[in-house]
Amino acid sequence: MGLLSGKVALITGGSRGIGEALVKAMAAEGADIAFTYHSSEESANRVASEAAQGQQKVMAYKSDAADYAQAEELVKTVMSEFGRIDVLINNAGITKDTLMLRMGEEQWDKVMEVNLKSVFNLTKHALRPMLKQRAGSIINMSSVVGVFGNAGQANYAASKAGIIGFSKSIAKEVGSRGIRCNAVAPGFIETDMTHSLSEEQQKAYIANIPLKRLGTGKDIADTCIYLGSDMSTYVTGQVISVCGGLNT
Ligand code: NAP
Repeated sequence: MGLLSGKVALITGGSRGIGEALVKAMAAEGADIAFTYHSSEESANRVASEAAQGQQKVMAYKSDAADYAQAEELVKTVMSEFGRIDVLINNAGITKDTLMLRMGEEQWDKVMEVNLKSVFNLTKHALRPMLKQRAGSIINMSSVVGVFGNAGQANYAASKAGIIGFSKSIAKEVGSRGIRCNAVAPGFIETDMTHSLSEEQQKAYIANIPLKRLGTGKDIADTCIYLGSDMSTYVTGQVISVCGGLNT
């Protein structure tokens, strides 16, 4: 019996990086998984087949998390194919980094739509079945940058700080119905998102991390397994930093 046996998880952005680690680790803990991607169809199909090693059902769906109507359609499809949603992980995210003076309206709007509006879109639609079940765990992927800011990432940091306020509000709104909502704040995790950093930049970041290494997708997945499982039934409205001590 895994920690997530009998549960259904819906995860946005599961085709790469942290999302891929979430899909694989949660399936290994016994969850059935529906996950989304935006454009990486080949990679999404590979993740789905690699994750479905046991009895678990793992399905990939092309769905733009920033699009309200697509989120509604996705939740309907998942409900008809899986019958319930126990865990929602709003993981999809992008960066469009630049200094404020150079930042265009499009760079601001796009990051807000994919990182923050997506969290509203999916939570709004997944809440209905969770309210009927009188149970559910919503996990929103924030960032340490949403807590302490970062030069060159005003759009990204604002979207990730917004996720924290949203998560705390939802926790207060639906806690009485048995639904929990928490935010996870990763530090620097080895994925496509951080591969653009030069070796020198990586060394500089690592120097400031008490555990002296970048994080892995599995580090984030382990925390999400805890938050999605019955090991955390008295934990809601929290921001859990998984950052090797960077946010200390
Ligand atoms: P990543 O490797 O760039 O992967 C991003 C994932 O999001 C991909 O699966 C991508 O799908 C999906 N995605 C992007 N736009 C989407 C959209 N509009 N609709 C649906 N899916 C979409 O990123 P990551 O590093 O794994 O980051 C995952 C989450 O953790 C993000 O929210 C990120 O902000 C957060 N985070 C990451 C770090 C880090 O150091 N890596 C640190 C703090 C927080 P496609 O493959 O189809 O493009």
